[in-house]
Amino acid sequence: MLRLACLTFLVLYSAGLSAQQVKPEATEDWSYKPPLVMPGKKGRPPSDAIVLFSGQKDLDQWEHPDSSAVKWKAKGRTLTIVPKTKDIRTKRAFGNMQLHIEWKTPDPKEDKGRNDAGNSGVLFMGLYELQIYESYQYATRIYYNGQAGSIYKQYAPRVNACLPPESWQVFDVVFEAPVFNPDQTLKTPACITVFHNGVLILHHVAIKGPMVYAGYPQYTYHANKLPLVLQEHNSRVSFRNIWVREL
Ligand code: MG
Repeated sequence: MLRLACLTFLVLYSAGLSAQQVKPEATEDWSYKPPLVMPGKKGRPPSDAIVLFSGQKDLDQWEHPDSSAVKWKAKGRTLTIVPKTKDIRTKRAFGNMQLHIEWKTPDPKEDKGRNDAGNSGVLFMGLYELQIYESYQYATRIYYNGQAGSIYKQYAPRVNACLPPESWQVFDVVFEAPVFNPDQTLKTPACITVFHNGVLILHHVAIKGPMVYAGYPQYTYHANKLPLVLQEHNSRVSFRNIWVREL
């Protein structure tokens, strides 16, 4: 009993002593002053964002893979895919980023028979695809790692947070580019965290490599910044309010 009391006293005494020894100021950090950012309201871009699409005027930030002018249809604040015109990519290259993008799949009747149910996608660095698809309540049958919010053919989303077709939906993404060693082997894989309509669907997932339809993904060395690509897959998917913050 006496031993226990002595031990308790010693522990409390030494805890008190160490609290006394470290002054509060010792753990105050004044070395980095976070810059001021004005948050945007209702998904609007924050003050330090790079706006990639807010309307027709932003089309010149994009191009098709052959560098030709974008043939997708811009109307008001909306950009809609014109089937058979190919993907579009940003003229600017990006690595690590926060991305906000709003998208809408068309009336499924329009896609019926095409086997392209609202198929599109956001390809980070033009390689790593976050899938866009008509996946509301599993009305369209597709393997789970091919539905909306999947890393295509790699990871299904943790949950299906899809809204009905013709509803605006939101992806908020943190994407970390892969890092390569000086000998061009992979050091760190790309990593992604995604909120779909405000719901966490992918949490710091290590991407296995570039998207492949048939086969297994495998990394090959590339630049640390590459264009962001939006996929054209024969379906009139629409986009609006696209912005990024470089990290
Ligand atoms: Mg796709």
